[in-house]
Formats: sequence, structure tokens, C-alpha cells
Amino acid sequence: MFDLLDDQRQEFRDTLREFCRKEVMPGAARRDAEAEYPATLVSRLADMGLMGITIPEEFGGLGLDMVTQVLAMEEVAYADASLGSVFAGHYLGMETLRQFGSSEQRKRYLPGLATGSYRVAFALTEPDAGSDISRIRTRATAGPDGWTLSGSKTFTSNARESDGLVVFAMTDPDAGFRGITAFLVPTDAEGLGFSSPIEKLGIRGEHAYEVSLDGVQVERGATLGEPGGGGRIALEVLNSARIDVAALANGVAMRALDLATGYASTRIQFGRPIRELQAIQLQLAEIDTLVQSGRLNAYHAAALRDRSEDVRRAGSIAKYVASENCFQAVDKALQIHGGYGYVKESEIERLYRDCRIFRIYEGTSQIQLLTIAKLLAQLHDRHGTVV
Ligand SMILES: Cc1cc2nc3c(=O)[nH]c(=O)nc-3n(C[C@H](O)[C@H](O)[C@H](O)COP(=O)(O)OP(=O)(O)OC[C@H]3O[C@@H](n4cnc5c(N)ncnc54)[C@H](O)[C@@H]3O)c2cc1C
Repeated sequence: MFDLLDDQRQEFRDTLREFCRKEVMPGAARRDAEAEYPATLVSRLADMGLMGITIPEEFGGLGLDMVTQVLAMEEVAYADASLGSVFAGHYLGMETLRQFGSSEQRKRYLPGLATGSYRVAFALTEPDAGSDISRIRTRATAGPDGWTLSGSKTFTSNARESDGLVVFAMTDPDAGFRGITAFLVPTDAEGLGFSSPIEKLGIRGEHAYEVSLDGVQVERGATLGEPGGGGRIALEVLNSARIDVAALANGVAMRALDLATGYASTRIQFGRPIRELQAIQLQLAEIDTLVQSGRLNAYHAAALRDRSEDVRRAGSIAKYVASENCFQAVDKALQIHGGYGYVKESEIERLYRDCRIFRIYEGTSQIQLLTIAKLLAQLHDRHGTVV
């Protein structure tokens, strides 16, 4: 696996690892308890150039690859899943502009996105449209001076902390999925309203909001891609963003492995450290296999993406495997902690709450499996084989 770590990536990871373990980890429990958005740490990541890892150098980014981005996601999530989720959320908005912005939009927004001075959230989900995005009801109508948007979104992560929202709205309701258009809406636009942060089980430092759009006016050029192409844009962006979520899950699972290994070496029962008990050894080894297989899948998907290959199947597999494995790994690690893993002051208790989201957002586990199954049917029909 670590062939992936050439000198450049090794140095990148070591520098970020040191920062995350010294500067991010110590405050993670307090930020979780207070549901505090990690504003200072987001700025610190931005100062390190980490908001533009895959943004081309000509736009002020680091011009590095997705494998490097995945390594960064792991390190940040290892230290604090909330910060990791904010970090990955930035790439969700950024990727929409990078992949689907016109050359003028890319010139205008990518430099700010690369430095973190401009941030974009991704507003797709609505109260009645989650997995089934063809049911979104936010409506955009064209007028002589531009578009008017009305409707509501929910679970929009980092909405209030961002400068812009990628809003998916229906421009042709009769066309369903093919009637969706993507818009870039400034967060200070008149008619845009935000709820308080939604109270959540985990990743409490990442704030998600309900967003209302009441006759929000945007200019004609605020569309991203072609009218009617928004559904495809959402799915394409999610294809690569799922690899980031896999990496977040892997980072949390890596932390769970370290916590379980550490606890098992110091907890004495029956006169010896519990790691000398074979039943504990088996659980530790199981956690390790879960963690490493999750990581391999994410690296594989990221490497495919770096070669501009189709990542729909590999991305869904990576997200499914990593998020499900992470949940199992954290659960086993908590079991190794016994009663001490169940109490608030234990770190594994926080990881148990934090990791639950990875099986839900950016497509639930069921949606990943359905995506894979659909692709298998297509491959079979086209090539007669799927392997
Ligand atoms: C903390 C958090 C942050 C989020 N951030 C964002 C964000 O920034 N932007 C954004 O747009 N959204 C965001 N979301 C929304 C998230 O992506 C959705 O919650 C998710 O896609 C699932 O949609 P839903 O909650 O409406 O569930 P539903 O779609 O209602 O699904 C309910 C259940 O039914 C299952 N199901 C649905 N359809 C099928 C099917 N065809 N076959 C089998 N099972 C099915 C699902 O797997 C699930 O178990 C966030 C959510 C959370 C909780």
C-alpha cells in the first residue's frame, strides 16, 4: 500500500500529520462538546495551501493529485472528524466549479477557493428529496434580468460559513432529473435565509443548515453548466466526493485502531494486559484488516481518478467499504475499551458518534450498492463480463 508514498507525498503527509496531531487533536473533544465550528483551524489549513490541493497551479492551487488529497483527508479526520467533514465539504463545492465552471467562472473563483478566501457549500438535498434528487422542488424561473429562485434546502453543510452556495433547482419540472440546473448563489443574496445549525449526533463541529430561498435573484450568468445539466453535475461531483468521504472514514478508523491498540496494551485484567488475551488479539487484527481494506479501496479509486478514468464504480465501492468498515472498526474498538469506551470522556465514544454519518451523507450505503449494481448490469450488457 505504501508504494503510494513517494518522497513528495511522504513529506506532505508527515508535515500535515504533525500539524494535526499537535494542533487539531487537543481541542477536538471540547469543540465536540460545545458544537463549535473550527474556524481557526480552517484558516490554518488554508494557510498551508490545503484548500487547493488539486486546484491547478495556474489558479493558485498546489496542483497535486487526488491520492494526495485522500492522504490529507485521512490525516485531518484522524485528528478530528468534524474538521475533516468541513474540509471535505470545501472540496464538494470547489469541485463543482473546477469541473463545471465556465473558463470565466474558473478564473474568477478558483484562486479564492485555492486560498480559502472564497468558500462554496453544496445545496442539493431538500426536505422531500434526499436519495431521489429528481424530486427536488426548488424552482428557478428565467426573467429578462436573470433567474429567480424559490424553495428550501436542508442539511446544507457549511452554508453560513461559506461565501457562495451551489444550489440545484428545477428549471423544467416536467423533465425531472433532466430539468435540474445548478446555480452559484452568493450567501448574502436577498431572500436567502438560514436556520440555526441542526443539532446532530456526531461531527458536531461541522454545521449543517436548513436554507430557504424566497425569490432570490441571480444574474443570468450564475448558472453552472447548461440548463438541465444540473442533475448530471451533482452526480459527477458526488462521484469524486465519495472518495473524500471514504478517506474521512478511513482516518477515523485509523484513529480507532490506534486507540484500541493503546488501550489493550495498558488495561490489565486477569493479571496481564488484555492484548495478551487471544480474544482481544483477534479483534485487534480484525480492526486492522477493516482499516487497511478501506484505505486500499480509497487509494485505488483516487488513483483511477488521477488517470481520468471512470470512478463511478470504484468511488461507490470505496465509500461503501470504508464507511461500513469504519463503523465496524470503531464498534470493535469501543468493545475493547469495555465500560470505559461508553463514557463521555473517552475519545472512542466521540468516534462512535462521529463515524455514523459516513454511511449516510453523499449517498447512503444502499445508494452506493444500487449504483454498483446498475453499473454491473451495464457492463454485462456491453461487454459480457464485469471483471
Ligand atoms: C450531517 C449531514 C450533512 C449533510 N451535508 C449535506 C450537504 O452539504 N449538501 C447536501 O445536499 N446534502 C447534505 N446532506 C444530506 C445527505 O446527503 C442525505 O441525508 C442523504 O443523501 C440521504 O437522504 P435522506 O436523508 O433524505 O434519506 P432518504 O433518501 O429519505 O433515505 C431514507 C432511507 O431509505 C433508503 N433508500 C432511499 N432510496 C432507496 C432505494 N431506492 N433503495 C433502497 N433504499 C433506499 C436510504 O438508504 C435510507 O436508509 C447531509 C446530511 C447530513 C446528515
